[in-house]
Amino acid sequence: MRTLLFLASLIAIVPFAARASDAVYIHAGRLLDQPGKSPRGPSTLIVREGKIADVRDGFALPEGGARLIDLKEQFVLPGLIDMHVHISSDDNLLRSRLEASERDIEDVFVIAQGNARRTLEAGFTTVRDLGGDGRTTATLRDAVNNGQILGPTIVPAGTMVSVTGGHGGVNGLNRTYTRAVAAERTNVCDGPDSCASAVRAQISVGAEVIKFAATGGVRSNVAGGLGKQMTDAEMKAIVDTAHSFGRKVTAHAHGKEGIDAALRAGVDSIEHGSFIDEETVRLFKAEDAALVPTAVAPIAALAQARRGDAPAPQLAKAEQTAASHAQSFARAVKGGVRILFGTDSGVAPHGDNAKEFALMVKAGMTPAQAIKAATLDSATELERPIGALLPGHDADIIAVSGDPLADVTALESVSFVMRRGVVHKLGGERQVFPPE
Ligand SMILES: [Zn+2]
Repeated sequence: MRTLLFLASLIAIVPFAARASDAVYIHAGRLLDQPGKSPRGPSTLIVREGKIADVRDGFALPEGGARLIDLKEQFVLPGLIDMHVHISSDDNLLRSRLEASERDIEDVFVIAQGNARRTLEAGFTTVRDLGGDGRTTATLRDAVNNGQILGPTIVPAGTMVSVTGGHGGVNGLNRTYTRAVAAERTNVCDGPDSCASAVRAQISVGAEVIKFAATGGVRSNVAGGLGKQMTDAEMKAIVDTAHSFGRKVTAHAHGKEGIDAALRAGVDSIEHGSFIDEETVRLFKAEDAALVPTAVAPIAALAQARRGDAPAPQLAKAEQTAASHAQSFARAVKGGVRILFGTDSGVAPHGDNAKEFALMVKAGMTPAQAIKAATLDSATELERPIGALLPGHDADIIAVSGDPLADVTALESVSFVMRRGVVHKLGGERQVFPPE
């Protein structure tokens, strides 16, 4: 009885989140239903069973007992998509290093839950997770989809495939720890056959996309630099194996030779792209590959390294990427490379994902292009019915005060979040998760 009363009290304060199957009418002051086109004026979105059922001009009155959400003073747009996060990574690098030997996978799962909630409440209704423990991410993905945990839709990559000694290898740890971690790892490979096997191992624990380390990285505990780390044959084996399983492939790549080799191997996208010249721009376009710049990450990584939060080998690498990333990004934009939205949250703070928008505009994109990259273009890459508010699409909807097409930083404070028809934020306030 007490439980029933408790549940009843929760339902009473959650007027809009009780059942995804209820019809909801949303009155939008302005509506960017199709990013890339001009926004509509006063409009009504009708949501049924977690999907967009209809989009009408003007403010249509709710019918058949449908609920009404008043966003007449708001700018309404599709839920945002972040193509590069590490949902289970603690963004406090120093704390996670100090606690590393005490944390079990269950502790990591709890951290991941908090990160997922912060990401969703920041207006990001879908994320691509580009590296963590494959089972942990897949479990979190399923729990979000089943309505058991608050978070964005997660498209997981499993663990990043890497060569021994490479960016995703087991580096810089003591003997005991190295042995323990290496025994659990299925992502480290050497030679084409071994790398094909590492791809299959990620797919076997739920990876929907494959990521591999084509070059060194800032946040690995090796001084090996940011250059190419894999052979052409290893990259080709990874790409071909992933594609044969119907998975897209994205390559972590900083140095030019590694980016170029990954593009020639047929990757679908490049993460970071810190050293891009005109030849690389031409290769991107010839291969129709996209760039996920993660512009907030080099800034965050440099700050951590300078504070001494990171192991010593990372400082020089952080200085190098931070010095050249913005220029490379601007060169790619000017050259017409297809850009997708990604932050590398986990390096940068979870929930601050929208800070990437200002850096995209600084690199030469218009606010409209940056918003399209974070909605329709990323949705197209993921091949999912999101990123636009069209009938039949998932009802992933957000709203902001102000006009993000004029000032893109408006997206840094989202006032309304709906994912698959369930309201998680309204009037800037967190909504209690619906009891089931
Ligand atoms: Zn990353």
